[in-house]
Amino acid sequence: MLGPGDDAAVLSAPDGRVVVSTDVLIEGRHFRRDWSSGYDVGRKAAAQNLSDVAAMGATPTSIVVGLGIPADLPLTWLDELTDGFVDECATVGASVAGGDVTRCDLVVIGVTALGDLGGRAPVTRSGARPGHVVAVTGRLGYAAAGWALLEAGVPVDSPALREAVAGHRRPCPPYAMGPLAAELGASAMLDVSDGFLQDVGHIAEAAGVRVELDPRAFTVAEPVAAAAKELGADPLEWVLSGGEDHALAATFPPDVRLPASWQVVGRVVEGEGVLVYGREIGRRGWDHFR
Ligand SMILES: [Mg+2]
Repeated sequence: MLGPGDDAAVLSAPDGRVVVSTDVLIEGRHFRRDWSSGYDVGRKAAAQNLSDVAAMGATPTSIVVGLGIPADLPLTWLDELTDGFVDECATVGASVAGGDVTRCDLVVIGVTALGDLGGRAPVTRSGARPGHVVAVTGRLGYAAAGWALLEAGVPVDSPALREAVAGHRRPCPPYAMGPLAAELGASAMLDVSDGFLQDVGHIAEAAGVRVELDPRAFTVAEPVAAAAKELGADPLEWVLSGGEDHALAATFPPDVRLPASWQVVGRVVEGEGVLVYGREIGRRGWDHFR
């Protein structure tokens, strides 16, 4: 209703409730300026917050941004960053409602996203019940594969490898699938930010259930397969343990007819923890398990 320019913005909340999520990204830890442009960092910082809002079953409406920047940061980098925020928000019809900038030794980016539930109940992590199916939509493994390519310093000289690196620089979360899943009756949902196994483990823990996954049900996308071939790595490790792609993972009652964009990869049973090939994934993750 009232955007940047005054002391505070004013937002409408047609639903009477507001969904809110915030994240902080720090240079060197979450992004590198030599690996990602300001524009990519802006898209990514906005995406990971908008995705958290979508994972509640809500439609993102706006973000506000707090920035810490070093004195020697090129102004063009800051402009690109801002363009990244605006463009990523535009993909979901959201806006940048305001922000603040202050001096800092490193680039520090705090993004807060707000969203609208449209009359629906929020989809939490604790609603998964035995008998429900586990499904995923969106990309898995791209960001991890792209990061591994950059770290190895190998030539990125094919369309598939370029797509993996682009996936590291800028995620493509399936935002619209969040509210859709809520409408379909999803019982639990979250976005995959730390790695599928770890994140689905949060659902198992919150709901007091066990999740059994079938690794053969996961698709290894061409960019992920190509990067694994290039580096002699296991692509399934990136698919199951790689974070930052912001796919949506959800559980649904068995009678829900899922659109083709959702892939059923497991089921919820009585118990605890996450099982793959009938064995429990421990703290040390997929690699150790293999
Ligand atoms: Mg999340």
